[in-house]
Amino acid sequence: MKGIIIGSGIGGLAAAVRLASKGYEVSVFEANSYPGGKLSEKWVDSYRFDAGPSLFTLPGMVDDLFRLCNENPGQHFAYKKLEIICKYFYEDETVIRAWQDTTRFAQELSEKTGENPNNLYRFLTKCKSLYELTSGFFIFESIHHLKAWISRSFLRSLLYGYKLNIFSTMDGVIRKYFRDHRVRQLFDRYATYNGSNPFVTPGTLNVITHLEFNIGAFIPVNGMFDITRSLVDLAQRQGVLFHFNSRVDEIVTNQSRIAGIHSGGQFFPADVIVSDVDIVYAYKLLQNYQLPQRYLRQERSSSALVFYWGVKGDHPQLELHNILFSKNYREEFDHLFKKKRIYSDPTVYINISSKEVNGDAPSGCENWFTMINAPENTGQNWEQLIGEVKIRVIEKINRLTGIDIENKIGAEDILHPGNIEQLTSSYRGSLYGNSSNSIFSAFNRHPNFSRVIRNLYFVGGSVHPGGGIPLCLASAKIVDGLIK
Ligand code: FAD
Repeated sequence: MKGIIIGSGIGGLAAAVRLASKGYEVSVFEANSYPGGKLSEKWVDSYRFDAGPSLFTLPGMVDDLFRLCNENPGQHFAYKKLEIICKYFYEDETVIRAWQDTTRFAQELSEKTGENPNNLYRFLTKCKSLYELTSGFFIFESIHHLKAWISRSFLRSLLYGYKLNIFSTMDGVIRKYFRDHRVRQLFDRYATYNGSNPFVTPGTLNVITHLEFNIGAFIPVNGMFDITRSLVDLAQRQGVLFHFNSRVDEIVTNQSRIAGIHSGGQFFPADVIVSDVDIVYAYKLLQNYQLPQRYLRQERSSSALVFYWGVKGDHPQLELHNILFSKNYREEFDHLFKKKRIYSDPTVYINISSKEVNGDAPSGCENWFTMINAPENTGQNWEQLIGEVKIRVIEKINRLTGIDIENKIGAEDILHPGNIEQLTSSYRGSLYGNSSNSIFSAFNRHPNFSRVIRNLYFVGGSVHPGGGIPLCLASAKIVDGLIK
């Protein structure tokens, strides 16, 4: 049996490994000359950068793929748990380190903000229960199959539905636990982990906090791209063939069944196809089928503007992950989702992988992945905006950390929503497919299978259960369960 995977993003790679382990003869077709999609790497002069994701949770889901192939994950893919999850800087000069150790973090919050430690303990318990109540049904099942609706995990979610905070916002729930606005902002930030707005997205999304604080924040020892690299190697050991620079132009069907694909003027037959392409573009590969309008009407998640800076000097005042908060978070999200503009005082995220990964920057230098949230690409003039935003970002870094960054930048590259769309075929450059800014978002993502074409499946951030590395891996696991 032949299986074809379209796209080598994390969802596609996981699907390739899973299909090969079932005994399929698998080929991956990738439009780019390199694997990984958003989870790729780039070099700017002598600095290495993870091009997209930098936050890594639920590493066990990567390990599972090695175990599925009877391999010891530790021999091929190494990662470690962080001691400090993130360092937060506020305009009022408060600096908070989010320690992995809950007691230490509670103490830090108490010292810096006066927040009662018990509030943190209660909140993290709440986040844990949200995960326990939702993960079975919403993350690891195809909610578009009847089987899921009669499962034990659904019944549990239903029974305890009143505890899921569906009708409160994420921020609304956080307000019930914390009185300090800086602590609230810190936890509101987790909405951005799937490109949503904490003042609109349902309170259930506080489940994301559980992943980092109760399970752990991790970093692959060789950087984020090692997730992609080690899965490509694993897939190849399972016999998977990779075709790079090979854009798929058409998914060919025969009487509502998969027949194969056209790529580079050639026909490649297949019994099963798994598409890792953004669902909007995936439907454009099908001649006689259109994406139902209701999926197109869904709001897209936010995008990003990234400055990859090679920086001279070491900066011990910064950690691996750093956030320089906007003074008015609500305004920032209104700009992103309502006005489709970048806010004048954006929250700045700085990730410096060279603090943990040897060789990511020359000695005495650092690689700064400096990112702000940006709206989806609706044709804004990014080249012009970049110049304006860069000035404000530099001013903010200077003001909140005391680092004169402008004079230290030795190398630069830039990623914006327009070229995210171009490089990864992500509709409107969204990082996470659709946003979760509605109580129906979870149900309005495209299923992991086609209802009209037999043996056509979908994985990746634009379909169920959503974007981000763990959920893309979950989509491949669901598809694995659907393919006989
Ligand atoms: P994608 O990465 O979207 O890749 C799809 C692949 O399909 C691409 O390689 C593309 O070239 C290929 N393709 C498309 N069309 C065709 C075609 N017709 N023929 C052949 N190939 C085709 N997630 C986290 O978990 N943590 C983070 O910290 C985080 N930060 C992020 C920061 C940035 C700047 C970005 C861009 C994303 C971030 N994300 C993060 C989101 C995460 O990267 C994505 O959700 C995830 O990587 C998407 O994987 P995917 O399987 O959907 O495939």
